Amino acid sequence: PSPLGPTPKLVIDLERLAQLPKEKAGALARYAATIQSQRGDYNGKVLSIRQEDLRSLAVIYDKSPTELTEELINWGVLDAEARRAVESF
Ligand code: C2E
Ligand code: C2E
Ligand code: C2E
Repeated sequence: PSPLGPTPKLVIDLERLAQLPKEKAGALARYAATIQSQRGDYNGKVLSIRQEDLRSLAVIYDKSPTELTEELINWGVLDAEARRAVESF
């Protein structure tokens, strides 16, 4: 087991996401809205997503999962802990 503990979750900051320009974050915002709708989970400030969903989003953004994770950390949508969640890919 990792000395840093279990693999952290990928947690999207929905308030930060809503502040970003649509040209950058539109695809992610639509993806997150779809997951919220599938779960019936509308009232959260954050949304935990599947690792599998980050892979799909990387395809949509034409980046590797690692590159996309760095971008989302830069935007303030994921926290730095998310790096460890994609290391296990
Ligand atoms: P599903 O994948 O057949 O999952 C059915 C139910 O199992 C989910 O209902 C949820 O109660 C539970 N479940 C499945 N995987 C997990 C998990 O990793 N963690 C937790 N806590 N529960 C899990 P729910 O939430 O109402 O979702 C309904 C359907 O919406 C899911 O059916 C799936 O098709 C879709 N969905 C929901 N959230 C996501 C997501 O984050 N990513 C993707 N790709 N699909 C999702
Ligand atoms: P946590 O995973 O650290 O989440 C902390 C809080 O962040 C949650 O408090 C909730 O307010 C928010 N949060 C995280 N992910 C989501 C999300 O996808 N949607 C929404 N609407 N809010 C989210 P909460 O709900 O009181 O849960 C407290 C703790 O209970 C969680 O801490 C986690 O340890 C556990 N828990 C709650 N739901 C689940 C679940 O579906 N699966 C698992 N494994 N644990 C859960
Ligand atoms: P979590 O609920 O703490 O689940 C952690 C991991 O346990 C998931 O990572 C997944 O690998 C496994 N897991 C939990 N429940 C199920 C299940 O019903 N079926 C399967 N096949 N695996 C399950 P993952 O997929 O990366 O998801 C990360 C977090 O995203 C989950 O943490 C949960 O907070 C959220 N999530 C993912 N899918 C769903 C969903 O369908 N509904 C809801 N409400 N939350 C979900």
